[in-house]
Amino acid sequence: MTNVFHRHCHTKLPCIASGEGVYLYDQAGKKYLDGCGGAAVSNLGHNASAVKKAIINQVETLPFAHTAFFTNESSEALATLLTDLAPDPLNHVYFVSGGSEAVESALKMARQYFVEIGETSKTQFIARRQSYHGNTLGALAVGGNEWRREKFRPLLADVHHISPCYAYRDQLEHESELAYSHRVADQLEAKILEVGADNIMAFVAEPVVGATAGALPATRGYFKRIREICDKYNVLLILDEVMCGIGRTGSFYAFEQEQIVPDLVTVAKGLGAGYQAIGAVVASDKIYNAIADGSGFFQHGHTFMAHPVACAAALATVNTIINEKLLETVVVQGQKLQAKLKEALSWLPYIGDIRGKGLFIGIELVADKVTKTPLSADSQANKVVKQIAMNNGLMCYPMSGTINGRDGHHILLAPPFIITDEQLDELVSKLKTSLIEAAKGWS
Ligand code: PMP
Repeated sequence: MTNVFHRHCHTKLPCIASGEGVYLYDQAGKKYLDGCGGAAVSNLGHNASAVKKAIINQVETLPFAHTAFFTNESSEALATLLTDLAPDPLNHVYFVSGGSEAVESALKMARQYFVEIGETSKTQFIARRQSYHGNTLGALAVGGNEWRREKFRPLLADVHHISPCYAYRDQLEHESELAYSHRVADQLEAKILEVGADNIMAFVAEPVVGATAGALPATRGYFKRIREICDKYNVLLILDEVMCGIGRTGSFYAFEQEQIVPDLVTVAKGLGAGYQAIGAVVASDKIYNAIADGSGFFQHGHTFMAHPVACAAALATVNTIINEKLLETVVVQGQKLQAKLKEALSWLPYIGDIRGKGLFIGIELVADKVTKTPLSADSQANKVVKQIAMNNGLMCYPMSGTINGRDGHHILLAPPFIITDEQLDELVSKLKTSLIEAAKGWS
């Protein structure tokens, strides 16, 4: 019996009891290898002592002080660290409690920026199909996951969607990578011209798509072209790094690998590494100065923003990533994991694509490798794989997203950065066993 209103009302979940490194243990003593960090959250595994100590220290010194009255040392130090790690002009950090709040805040910041500079006709967003930006109404409106949006239409914001950068499905046979990148990025320019540049505030995208595509990086040159188009039409670029940021792809911010700088970037999940609930918007001087020199305050706010305990945990998390050189580890272990997955799984008839960056890896399941036809929605592949993997002691993050109007199935892997070679082998072996078992129901 449970009084918790779980996301799936009729699913009986095992009750989790403890964690140790990359493993979780339920009350019955069953051990699970955390192959997805929950949902790309537990970057340091489940017993990072520096983070636990920082939390205890902060609780003993000061558990909470409302930001209407005070700033606090932990949030100041964390903001300095996050901006030191970001290129200029990303010099300002707005703290919230999670990913949706971060996206929601970034959307409102974009709007207030244009109000402050007198460009009040800019009220609309452009985002991408097959994307996920959170479950609050604004974030849901910019997201392009139809299954999540459907029950809540009409959504609040005025949003237009263009294609994602999805080479596996859309790059033409004789088209170069760069030509494809430009073709798909140019949809942004076409949409801006169609709606009118005077009406568009911002373009919103995940540098590596997570929850709707199982880790899908953009092709080379895509984001450079996007940045050029945004600049040409005075449209802000909001990059959502809630899932792919904070070292997950091998650089601290995922956008660093694209040789561009966004106007606003959102982070969450890995920022508190699961030890605390925290998110943030990192904003450029341009946005901050317009608001500071205009109204003088951002017309927004949440009770728990810049929470001292959450900030202390995030500070210890980021310091651990930097001091223990975990970005390098992510690159090396990520390359190993992709290679091991390709060797173990590529031959299976329903493995369409294995892709990703760093320890953020997506596996796309298909009914037919040649035609790339998605597995049918009836296969319930995401649910079946998840359950069988759990039975086999592995947490992976299967999901479905809409591919050309049909449900497609993906598996997201995002293990803790501290995963060893031996544990990578265990992950791959358990996943292979689980997929083979699950696929019996698809053929
Ligand atoms: N943006 C992205 C890219 C995400 O992956 C998520 C969560 N999966 C969110 C926003 C929303 O974050 P939260 O669940 O913390 O509200």
